[in-house]
Amino acid sequence: MHSTDSSTSLPPPPPPRGRQLSVPALARAFVILVCLALVAVDGRNIWRSYNASLRTSELAVQNVTRSIAQHAGDTIKKADTVLFGLLGDIEEIGMAPKDIVKLQPLLAERTAQLPEMQYVSIINKDGHWILNSLGQMPSGLDFSDREYFEFHQKNSTQQPHISAPLLSRTTGDWMIPISRRINAADGSFAGVALAAIRMSYLDGYYNSFSIGNDGSILLLQYDGKILARRSTADIPLNMNVATMPFFRDRVLRDLDGIGYTASGDGIERLFSFRRLDNYPLIAIVGLSKQEALSNWRDETIRHVIGIVLLISMIALMGHYLLRQIRVRAKISVQLEETQKKLIDLNNELERLALQDALTGLANRRQFDAALKIEFKRAVRQQGSLALLMIDVDHFKRFNDEYGHPAGDRCLQAISGVIHLQRPGDLSARYGGEEFGILLPDTDLAGAIAVAQQIRMGVKTLQLPHKRNPGGVVSISVGVASIRPSRNDLDPNVLLQASDQALYTAKAKGRDQIHPDGHVVQVIPPAGQTAG
Ligand code: GH3
Ligand code: MG
Ligand code: MG
Repeated sequence: MHSTDSSTSLPPPPPPRGRQLSVPALARAFVILVCLALVAVDGRNIWRSYNASLRTSELAVQNVTRSIAQHAGDTIKKADTVLFGLLGDIEEIGMAPKDIVKLQPLLAERTAQLPEMQYVSIINKDGHWILNSLGQMPSGLDFSDREYFEFHQKNSTQQPHISAPLLSRTTGDWMIPISRRINAADGSFAGVALAAIRMSYLDGYYNSFSIGNDGSILLLQYDGKILARRSTADIPLNMNVATMPFFRDRVLRDLDGIGYTASGDGIERLFSFRRLDNYPLIAIVGLSKQEALSNWRDETIRHVIGIVLLISMIALMGHYLLRQIRVRAKISVQLEETQKKLIDLNNELERLALQDALTGLANRRQFDAALKIEFKRAVRQQGSLALLMIDVDHFKRFNDEYGHPAGDRCLQAISGVIHLQRPGDLSARYGGEEFGILLPDTDLAGAIAVAQQIRMGVKTLQLPHKRNPGGVVSISVGVASIRPSRNDLDPNVLLQASDQALYTAKAKGRDQIHPDGHVVQVIPPAGQTAG
């Protein structure tokens, strides 16, 4: 059946799927990747803005520290300038009470111009006031127990001395004493010139900075004692920070610096410190880290909410799309299966359309198509083509005798013999109890030999047929062969010749083979059919 095999071709099977990722897996990986990338990029941005916020706060706190140091230096400098001038005046006019009183108006005027100054006074070597810029002179006050008095009494230094804050015995206000030693002509201790700086003046200045609720400003002496501080920061004036690690290790040692440390109140602060240029003091400004980062925190919270919403949306969309992809993939698989079934069905239909149902041989349709093809091939290859036309003898009688179903079984048995042909030959049930066999590349002698084999094969089956002269089923075979040389020759010529030969075989008494004489040897001219 080689000539017709090509008509029942199946589509090539789909290429085998390798171990590649499925589309849903790829889509899920993509969605996860996008979410992770968002988180990574945003995390990086948050970290960067965190650091930027801290840098900004550090710069701000350093600037405030510089201002505090500058302001403290200027304030003390002004007080000291007044004291210095006063010492010059005393040198000129001496310390006799009647003379020194003359300095009072000038001193009052000088002090009045300086809002930071509470008063300026002169204390004699016994610890009593002999001059005060305020004018009033409460009698009986003894200052000889004051730290500054004892300091100058014991030290001959001509440098100004800064003392720890005191509650003024004169005004009842907190003040910072700046003092200088007054020498007698022989260089001995003659008293103290004292300028009292208003604590409230420094306090007011410190409170003018916006450093948050937990911010702190300190003015320290080198020994860690507090000279002034922002009053809103709850720091007692008599506190000494010298033992606190950050102050001990950094503030009291370095000229300036910045650092983070938790204070006694448990709040972590960013501290900036700086030594004053001219006086043994340190300005310190602390900023609560939490407050410094509050803007960043608010912004980050807003941002994180946005990102969480965005990621949720992407995840939801991704989930929805994934479901769609899965549904589609399932439909696609179902379609593929349906298509395969259809192809199988189609192949089966095609097979059925070309096959005889009873015998399984090719049907007449296939036989006719094959005849045309083989005829053309024979023309092309200048070969011969033979055709056997077989008819069961007295089959009507067989049916009548044994019944139609037995007739069918008989046809199936005969087709078993007919089927056993060379590859390339085509055996067909031509119609009813007639069979046709197409033998390519076969001449008449070869075809007769095949016909003889088949006839004997059927005989050998020994199928009983009472009403056939031999007593068993026999066949008659008409044989024709042709060597066609022109394309326009009709293949039916061969069919008619073999049919004619079969007719002759029947006429001559059945159970025999008859070769057709006309067609075998003679190739008729174009347009003329054999007969
Ligand atoms: P002969 O060919 O020898 O001249 O006699 P015959 O009886 O075979 O003649 P004919 O060709 O006229 O009869 C053919 C019979 O074959 C008619 C029909 O009953 C029978 N036949 C045709 N097709 C089938 C079939 O498919 N099954 C059965 N059981 N019988 C069939
Ligand atoms: Mg017949
Ligand atoms: Mg017959």
